Amino acid sequence: MTFKDLGLSDSILKAVEEKGYTKPSPIQEKAIPHILKGKDILASAQTGTGKTAGFTLPVLQYLSETKHPKYRPLRALVLTPTRELAAQVYDNVREYSKYLNIYSAVVFGGVKATKQIATLKRGVDILVATPGRLLDLHDQKAVSFKRVDVLILDEADRMLDMGFVRDINKIISFMPAKRQNLLFSATFSNDIKKLAAGILRNPVSVETAPQNSTAKKVTHKVYKVDKKRKTELAIKLIKDNNWSQVLMFTRTKHGANKLTQKLIKAGISAAAIHGNKSQGARTKALKNFKENTIKILVATDIAARGLDIPLLPHVINYELPNVPEDYVHRIGRTGRAGAAGEAISFVCSEETEYQNEIEKLLQEKLKSTILEDFEPTDTAPPKRAATQSKKSFGKKNKGGENSRDSNKKRAAETSSTSKRKPKRKPHFKGNKPNGATSGRGRTGAPKKKRF
Ligand code: ADP
Ligand code: MG
Repeated sequence: MTFKDLGLSDSILKAVEEKGYTKPSPIQEKAIPHILKGKDILASAQTGTGKTAGFTLPVLQYLSETKHPKYRPLRALVLTPTRELAAQVYDNVREYSKYLNIYSAVVFGGVKATKQIATLKRGVDILVATPGRLLDLHDQKAVSFKRVDVLILDEADRMLDMGFVRDINKIISFMPAKRQNLLFSATFSNDIKKLAAGILRNPVSVETAPQNSTAKKVTHKVYKVDKKRKTELAIKLIKDNNWSQVLMFTRTKHGANKLTQKLIKAGISAAAIHGNKSQGARTKALKNFKENTIKILVATDIAARGLDIPLLPHVINYELPNVPEDYVHRIGRTGRAGAAGEAISFVCSEETEYQNEIEKLLQEKLKSTILEDFEPTDTAPPKRAATQSKKSFGKKNKGGENSRDSNKKRAAETSSTSKRKPKRKPHFKGNKPNGATSGRGRTGAPKKKRF
């Protein structure tokens, strides 16, 4: 099967070829024909399997097939949970539409709205946006959804986690009822199915990976260690093994900052990426990490989700996530494309319950090791067991200390409605017709893929 067999136009084929793609990925092969037929789609495939092109290519084809009025009403809207993801999807849209007469733009929070408003007013065919900022702009009448006939929800599972359902529904309420809906997600939870049921019409389900499956070649390794000695252990492992590119996960933004500082103090180049960092700092950290100018990227789950982070030999869970599904997402960053990867987790006594939940989800025991000189001495009771009933544990964002505010917190990590005051320099990038590019520096190392 080739891209040509899928019925894509020559202009799109040319752009795809220039990207170096030789054939469609499995999810693209399955999804594109249905999307071209105008069907609604519920699609799930692991991270890194080419979902972006899976929806972008057929939507661009559709947009380019219709006549363009002088003023371009917004016809295709892509919603993403985070700013980085919006920027990334937009980069793809620009590349694939290089040879088409299509206007595209991206809007997200954390940057001034002035330029975004100006670009929207000039008219765009396809817009990539985070929900909070988009609603702001809609409130200001900078954009209308009245002519939208394709709606794409990317990383829909994350949007649910982050509490964007209300925003999404509000946005949809301004759209015509008759439209095509495409929902893409890395996982297929029951909540996703519920969301889909409310939005999609007779959708075709497209799935290419078993639910919550982890990459085959990943080895899981747990180091049992006292909480207060985790940083020391990290430094030792990184130095002893001479690791040069490691993605580390912490549960909190504060934790990410603290760890980053300690690593730097120990002579290891590191940067943190999380929602309290300015957009500029986040972009820079990711770029430096991709280009290998820093060795360690310390991230919170939200910040890392959906990012085009290169595939890495090592991912370290400095702390286990308290939502077991997040473990799957985290380690999705390693061991891909047939290469072996190692998912390392530091587990202190408080976290044993989290480990149990992860093992339950994976249906696999994680191999535990104790490093000499790092023998755990703490006997603190597991957090979960101590603070809440077992019943609610494991449900996404519904339990314990991570509960109530979790959605809000997660949302605050991105351009949600809670962050409406623009603080920083405009970061907006409007696409011009006929492929003119405005100088951008967001490319970094080429993304590795799973196929
Ligand atoms: P996902 O959204 O599924 O996580 P992406 O859409 O971000 O994945 O794609 C992952 C990487 O694969 C990107 O670098 C993209 O350029 C690349 N890619 C997409 N489609 C193909 C293809 N058909 N052949 C080769 N590489 C591809
Ligand atoms: Mg994606």
